[in-house]
Amino acid sequence: MFDNLSDKLDKAFHILKGHGKITEINVAETLKEVRRALLDADVNFKIAKDFTTRVKDKAIGENVLTTLQPGQLMVKLVKDELTELMGGDVAGINLSGNPTVILMSGLQGSGKTTFSGKLANYLKTKKNKKPLLIAGDVYRPAAIDQLHVVGGQIGVEVYSERENKNPVEIALNGIKHAKANGFNVVVVDTAGRLAVDEEMMTEIANVHKAINPQETLFVVDSMTGQDAVNTAKAFNDRLNFDGVILTKLDGDTRGGAALSIKSVVNKPIKFVGTGEKMEAIDVFYPSRMADRILG
Ligand code: GDP
Repeated sequence: MFDNLSDKLDKAFHILKGHGKITEINVAETLKEVRRALLDADVNFKIAKDFTTRVKDKAIGENVLTTLQPGQLMVKLVKDELTELMGGDVAGINLSGNPTVILMSGLQGSGKTTFSGKLANYLKTKKNKKPLLIAGDVYRPAAIDQLHVVGGQIGVEVYSERENKNPVEIALNGIKHAKANGFNVVVVDTAGRLAVDEEMMTEIANVHKAINPQETLFVVDSMTGQDAVNTAKAFNDRLNFDGVILTKLDGDTRGGAALSIKSVVNKPIKFVGTGEKMEAIDVFYPSRMADRILG
């Protein structure tokens, strides 16, 4: 995960290692390499530039040139800034409401259905909840089947209406079913498209308005880098979602989406997907991720 970025940052800090005393030039070179590492990770130019400016200002503020271990101090400053860039504190999930209503949004192939299952499983096993999955993808019968398979794997009931093509009705009926049968959280999976289009956006906005969820989560494939960020912006403009789910982190060697998304949409990354199995879900801790990146 993010191996390229880790390697490049490691190399950037080599410049400062072994120097008892460092110069302004050493610091500037290091920061230039840090910026290059971020750009290679597919972080956009302005975010990368602002990042190194902030680290530089802090380095000056902490008199990095005269400290005993300037290399270590620089690593710490970069780590702190990476943590902030990824959202600072861990963001929880709002489980108020009975049932709590969670709406999943995102493009087709982002990992939405898989993540709906992972989240239901997490809520069941870690939060002692009784979840219901609702199949809101009315276009692809295979998507409904897939959610039933996932539900079967984790022992969670799936509500679907194969003949109904109205996702608003299905979601509302599913919530009614949850209330009548003692489910205290519903996870509504929805239809995605291969790219952002108006029809999909109108549909999900209508579902969103009708069910008024406690949590609207936007699911995105972290391997798509800047595209992930642009898609996040399009969905956020329409839904004003509550949090981001970054999937397929296990295959992401670059990390651009994880590093950029918070700055662009100002919404936290809440969970990550790290594999195809139902257990491959983690709460996202910005500081732990920064620790990992800097090895
Ligand atoms: P949807 O169209 O958004 O519902 O996407 P799916 O849930 O069907 O996922 C698309 C593909 O990505 C499937 O083959 C999943 O197994 C795979 N996938 C989903 N999440 C992850 C993940 O975190 N890691 C990996 N490696 N694969 C994932």
